[in-house]
Amino acid sequence: MTTLHEPTIATDELRPTYVEVDRDALAENYRAIAAHVAPARVMPILKANAYGHGLVEVGRVAERLGAPYIGVAYLEEALRLRQHGVRIPLLVLGGILGSQIPRFIEHDVTLTASSIDKLHAIEEQAGTMGRVATVHLKIDTGMERIGVHWYSAERLLEASLRCRHARVEGIFTHFANADARDLTHARLQLERFEEVLRFYEHRSLPPPLRHAANSGAILQLPESYFDLVRAGILFYGARPSLEVPATVPVRQALRWVTRVVFFKVVKAGNPVSYGGDWAPTSETRVVTLPVGYGDGYTRAMSGKAEVILNGKRYPVVGRICMDQVMVSIGWDSAYNGDEVVLLGGDDATAISTEEMAAWAGTITHEILTSINTRVPRIYRGG
Ligand SMILES: *Cc1c(COP(=O)(O)O)cnc(C)c1O
Repeated sequence: MTTLHEPTIATDELRPTYVEVDRDALAENYRAIAAHVAPARVMPILKANAYGHGLVEVGRVAERLGAPYIGVAYLEEALRLRQHGVRIPLLVLGGILGSQIPRFIEHDVTLTASSIDKLHAIEEQAGTMGRVATVHLKIDTGMERIGVHWYSAERLLEASLRCRHARVEGIFTHFANADARDLTHARLQLERFEEVLRFYEHRSLPPPLRHAANSGAILQLPESYFDLVRAGILFYGARPSLEVPATVPVRQALRWVTRVVFFKVVKAGNPVSYGGDWAPTSETRVVTLPVGYGDGYTRAMSGKAEVILNGKRYPVVGRICMDQVMVSIGWDSAYNGDEVVLLGGDDATAISTEEMAAWAGTITHEILTSINTRVPRIYRGG
């Protein structure tokens, strides 16, 4: 099936701009992370269209790899995976409304209980439905986003022991600064989490599945691995920041490519694109590419981005438009239909997500999740 928004194939007849996802790279990254954190296991995080890689396809990859769990942000992401036949456990990491609870239970999606009230609501709903709801408790150890504060967690854990329809399978926290060079805050959060977990030790109870580590912590905080690690950006082959050491060998799983659709010569002094910020100082060849900020090729990269054409880097010139960008190729040659790499590649000229994030003044996560659904995805490898 080929539709504009969810094509399984991209062809030149459809659109010459597409993202190519290498399933083998995802598999290798998964195995590299798994080997690094063993005996802890890996929960790949597939929120935001699997960081732009395509939710359903990546869900299938994760299932085939034997992942024990998949993490997503929202209920609808989990439901979409279920609708497409993904059967492994799914955890929705984000905050939820009481009205969503029945849908979780109906489709066997694990809920995050981020307060005692939510836990009670889940318990009650599951009882009413005559079903068991699987729950992970969320402890806020210093992110101040969702979860029960570490200093009030005991009440939540006690309440969880009394649940009969809500089965507490896991307990987790989330780091605010695990991708920073300075790990003081992350270590403090870890201590607080460990203190909460002593609840089980004191009662001689086996703790539920414990998880804390995101990509930053996987790379530089081994004490935080516990039973599961939540691998997001690292699974896709990028680092969360340039401050963290590259301790796990991963490679970029996607390539974003397009083709030249127009060629011209611009005379010296004639400005290019909106605002006329840039003009060549001498006559230069300029090509136009069918991609723009309307695809997630961020406008903030104007004047900074580069692309790869025939194995060589060239600058994007003038402001990035919604659907088109211009590239100066000096006095080199290019033809309509020539392939242009926007992101990725596997030789010395390759453009890494980290580099593109620096052009855009953002983090790698935002680069990948910004490549929107207008861009077809194609898949290669196992
Ligand atoms: C997004 C997210 C992750 C993954 O973060 P990365 O930095 O991409 O590894 C892990 N845990 C939670 C709760 C998240 O929201």
